[in-house]
Amino acid sequence: MIDVIVIGAGLFGSVIARHLTALGYSVLVIDNKEPTAGSRAAGCVIKPSWLTNFGGSLDPCMDLLKLYYQVHTVEFTIHPSGFKTTCGRIEPGDILGGPHINDHISDVRQYPDRVVASGSVGDYTAKRIVVAAGIWSPELYSCDVSAKLGWSFRGSPIPNPVIDTWAPYRQVVAFNMSDGRSWIGDGTALIPKSITPERLAVSQARCSAKSGATDLQPTLGARPYAVTTAPCLVAENGRAILATGGAKSGTVGAAYAALRVAAILRGK
Ligand SMILES: Cc1cc2nc3c(=O)[nH]c(=O)nc-3n(C[C@H](O)[C@H](O)[C@H](O)COP(=O)(O)OP(=O)(O)OC[C@H]3O[C@@H](n4cnc5c(N)ncnc54)[C@H](O)[C@@H]3O)c2cc1C
Repeated sequence: MIDVIVIGAGLFGSVIARHLTALGYSVLVIDNKEPTAGSRAAGCVIKPSWLTNFGGSLDPCMDLLKLYYQVHTVEFTIHPSGFKTTCGRIEPGDILGGPHINDHISDVRQYPDRVVASGSVGDYTAKRIVVAAGIWSPELYSCDVSAKLGWSFRGSPIPNPVIDTWAPYRQVVAFNMSDGRSWIGDGTALIPKSITPERLAVSQARCSAKSGATDLQPTLGARPYAVTTAPCLVAENGRAILATGGAKSGTVGAAYAALRVAAILRGK
């Protein structure tokens, strides 16, 4: 029998699966490719200021990320001050896109010796299950997960990485990815009814003006966050473990969750 089924191949499910596999567990990942999954829009930037959300030491999270992925260093020029700041980033494709089955899981049933996840393609049986399904997690595990939505953009290459504050706690972050095209986000956090063509046009114009990139192609994503235990949610109920959240800090949040899930499986 498989040791662990992971539902969701976003940042959380992918990092958890990578870590558990490295620890020697047999792992099956299942994902249904939701078009607004947060990870599809993520730049996987690791900003030092976001790390404080997690409290305690973040060294183990960064150590885990560095063990499995190449953490690139990006030196951003901050506008309008001209100061410099250094952030980490991981190429999203390095984390996402691991092996998984494409199926929509609609039900999880627990038995004394196993857990069964039912999908449209088939049933999957394992000793334990990890629900890392982002904002869709409550459909499979009773929990209080919500989300704010936002766009990121891919555009023409830019000359230098830029962070430009446009409102309190709101910044345009822009850099070039490994394929040469830029990634730009403006940190907007919207509820679903605010997702309108007008708001998209505003974000697009802001990101273009502040980064200098043209030909911006948008991706809409939902950033899941734990309503009561922000920013990250790792919980256990019998053979099921919930792991999602992270809000804007999904990359380091995923590492935090992977460490917690591994500890739960070890009985700690
Ligand atoms: C515009 C934008 C920019 C961002 N930039 C960054 C950044 O630079 N750095 C950073 O650290 N974070 C960033 N984030 C935040 C980050 O994307 C999220 O915190 C992260 O995606 C949460 O990961 P997750 O795996 O919990 O959820 P998700 O990424 O939403 O993944 C959940 C997965 O579960 C699958 N799924 C759902 N239900 C089912 C089901 N029933 N059966 C099978 N599969 C299912 C979905 O298809 C999906 O792939 C950004 C987010 C947005 C929106």
